[in-house]
Amino acid sequence: MDFKVRIIGDPVLRKKATKVEKIDDEFKELLDNMTNVMYKEDGVGLAAPQVGISKRFFIMDDGKKLRKVINPEIIEFIGEDVVYEEGCLSIPGIFINVKRPEGIKVRYIDEEGNEIEEELHDYTARIFQHEYDHLEGILFVDKVSTAAKAKFKGKLNELMKEGRKIAKELGEVVIE
Ligand SMILES: [Zn+2]
Repeated sequence: MDFKVRIIGDPVLRKKATKVEKIDDEFKELLDNMTNVMYKEDGVGLAAPQVGISKRFFIMDDGKKLRKVINPEIIEFIGEDVVYEEGCLSIPGIFINVKRPEGIKVRYIDEEGNEIEEELHDYTARIFQHEYDHLEGILFVDKVSTAAKAKFKGKLNELMKEGRKIAKELGEVVIE
């Protein structure tokens, strides 16, 4: 499957994604393809809705470890809120400070079907939360003030137009 990264304005980015029911070879191949796309685009994370698939999984690489995260849950938020500049492959060229909890406790299934529970901090927790939001139809620009977005207003409108156009061409990618 050849993936195109979806851009803000595409309705698939605004849907609440549904659970992955089956991890088979085809699905693992999909994860590998997405990993290639993420690295090619210089991203640190890529969620399924970003390639048009409304399912609950994402991949992320915090520079230490590549994680393939399926049906994730955030069990607990830990520590203080911290501010960090975020970007998103679906909102190219826009970087804004976003406030999020410093740490999280999470549970998910890996590509071998193992249930993983771990505590994440700092940059790793940041990426996980950003990607998790994608599965809920939330984008980082939703979490910042109108004032913070003001200087990107023109750019955002342009992107929305592009996103809607791509959506019309490609629609949603349905996997089993
Ligand atoms: Zn993103």
